[in-house]
Amino acid sequence: MKSLQSLIRQSALILMAALLLVFSVLTYAGGDALLRRFVDGRLFGLAETMAKILEQHPNIIESSGEEYARAAEVIRDKNDEREVTHSLRIFSPDGRLVWKSPNAVAQTPVPDHVFEQVRLGNSLYKTAETLDGRWSVRQLFVPIPRQGPVRHVLQAEASLLLYRETLIGLVILLTLGSGTILFVAWIGSGWLAKKVLTPIEVLSAGAETISEADLGKRLTLDSPYQEFRRLTQAFNSVMDRFQRSGETQRRFCDIAAHEMKTPLTILQGNLDVALMKARTTEEYREALINNLEQVGRLIALTRSLLTLANFTSGKPPVHLVPLALEPMIQDIVDELTPLADDRRITLSFESQSVPPVLGDAQWLKQALINLLDNALHYTPSGGAVTVHLQAVREGVAVAVEDTGHGIEPEHLPHLFERFYRTDWARAKDAGGTGLGLPIVKEIAEAHGGTISVTSQVDKGSVFTLRLPVPAHQTIQT
Ligand code: ADP
Repeated sequence: MKSLQSLIRQSALILMAALLLVFSVLTYAGGDALLRRFVDGRLFGLAETMAKILEQHPNIIESSGEEYARAAEVIRDKNDEREVTHSLRIFSPDGRLVWKSPNAVAQTPVPDHVFEQVRLGNSLYKTAETLDGRWSVRQLFVPIPRQGPVRHVLQAEASLLLYRETLIGLVILLTLGSGTILFVAWIGSGWLAKKVLTPIEVLSAGAETISEADLGKRLTLDSPYQEFRRLTQAFNSVMDRFQRSGETQRRFCDIAAHEMKTPLTILQGNLDVALMKARTTEEYREALINNLEQVGRLIALTRSLLTLANFTSGKPPVHLVPLALEPMIQDIVDELTPLADDRRITLSFESQSVPPVLGDAQWLKQALINLLDNALHYTPSGGAVTVHLQAVREGVAVAVEDTGHGIEPEHLPHLFERFYRTDWARAKDAGGTGLGLPIVKEIAEAHGGTISVTSQVDKGSVFTLRLPVPAHQTIQT
């Protein structure tokens, strides 16, 4: 596994090396160009001075060698010691050497095309090697006179030795400087990486000490940096949520196990009693009917638990699409009408025209079936259950109204809690689970909607599911 510390150090080093390389290349190129301009400038100054003298005293070219030497001495006196590296030659226009200063070093021959250019009146710079190949020289060829027909070619020459030495010095300086900077970067990045990673090491070590049996433990970090304090807080709040969800889960399992235990105990008791002695067919039938009720309750409970198990992170995983509620409700009502008829309850559907909602058909169907199931369950024969679909200010409302027993006001705030059942419902039958309404609430909230209840004892209850509609839909109430 890669270590973050070595990644930080390597990255810092690579970045620094790349920057230094770019800096060194630019500095070298800039230094080279400046030095060349400097050398060429000095050469030009020397050639200008000599050309001027030769133009003012054209006769000295035809005179003796000593006079040339004197002219060269004049130039030499005017310049500083470094001018010693400068030398002069005078050629005839066709390339024959007429005169050279005493310090002129033997050169490779000047190519013809140089004389051709100068004969045309052009000045020309050129870099050449000394004949022994030991160093390079920079040369400037100037026509004499500079205006009019060319009579001589003046060659001013400067050694590039100093130039080369300066560039080598620059390279050594850049290499030593870069090496030092890279060394400091390596040490510095190590120090920085350690400083950054130490709190993370402390947090990791702390996190490793938290065991499943010790979920209440929290991390503490004494760091002045807000990023690490935030990381610690974030970790601790994840642990809070994790602990809460673990506790909820445990409580839920406890209650679910308890709810399952009751019908199973009744079932076992019934079977024990039935098997205690020989029974008549009628007695066996009665025992089986009793047991069937408990099995029905277990099936309902398992179904509700399975529905909850399909939730992801405690919420139903809804996939919202535009949905027309009216046909969907009509289908549900049609499906449940035989059951209502069986119980001699009038089931009807009253619908207004409403805009489509953003909903998940499967989950909304489940919610409405739960509400209608309850209404049919808690309404006596001869009663009525009506589903109203209407547009309201917040969107669309589906109200399930029954003329059943109703619910006492003290129970209303708790109806949507898991496994909550009223005493009356518990006494009435053993078929409920106390999970139907909590599931409806989760489904409503997953759609951005709400579920509410109003009820009057002995008159009936109304459960209203409100769902929002997409913003661009117009609601007419
Ligand atoms: P279950 O109906 O399986 O017991 P629910 O969560 O669906 O569980 O309902 C919780 C409780 O709310 C029920 O036990 C019952 O006491 C009460 N209740 C729900 N709907 C009605 C209704 N339409 N009329 C009267 N009481 C109701």
